[in-house]
Amino acid sequence: NGSANDSKNLRVKLVLLGDSGVGKSCIVLRFVRGQFDPTSKVTIGASFLSQTIALQDSTTVKFEIWDTAGQERYAALAPLYYRGAAVAVVVYDITSPESFAKAQYWVKELQKHGSPGMIMALVGNKADLQEKREVSAQDGMEYAEKNGMFFIETSAKTADNINQLFEEIAKRLPRPPA
Ligand code: GDP
Ligand code: MG
Repeated sequence: NGSANDSKNLRVKLVLLGDSGVGKSCIVLRFVRGQFDPTSKVTIGASFLSQTIALQDSTTVKFEIWDTAGQERYAALAPLYYRGAAVAVVVYDITSPESFAKAQYWVKELQKHGSPGMIMALVGNKADLQEKREVSAQDGMEYAEKNGMFFIETSAKTADNINQLFEEIAKRLPRPPA
């Protein structure tokens, strides 16, 4: 089911979904490489990166991250990405109500067609753009709560809450019996 292995070393497939331009690729690059490249290229199809983190209880979690693009036009292909994923991260841009609406579309899609027991996170990215904010943190939080999701606001630009996002997901993973 996209999560595997012994009790101390977990491996999980994680997919990112959300409107084009919300910062999915930048979140992944910030988490995996510690970088932010404002001129980064549009993702074509799907790209794959992995990153391992250690939790305080000495569990390690290896995230196999599928960064997708083109779901706007090729929504029919999306199930190929999220099939078998243990974790889905649905991203919107706090300056874009349209992207928040699109995030809600993806949540419904995952509820219908995703793996049972999938962990879902709702991420309001570009939190550094406070002066352009059009989606309140309250709205994001309430929607996430209603849908049993973990909610966080991030900035791939400043790195704010990026590691926390993945740590919180890691803590919520089901642990195989020791
Ligand atoms: P994707 O299509 O969802 O993968 O979005 P990208 O990661 O390619 O980012 C789209 C644009 O948003 C790029 O110009 C990024 O530089 C910018 N961007 C991404 N994350 C942030 C962020 O946290 N803050 C700001 N201000 N811009 C961001
Ligand atoms: Mg991208």
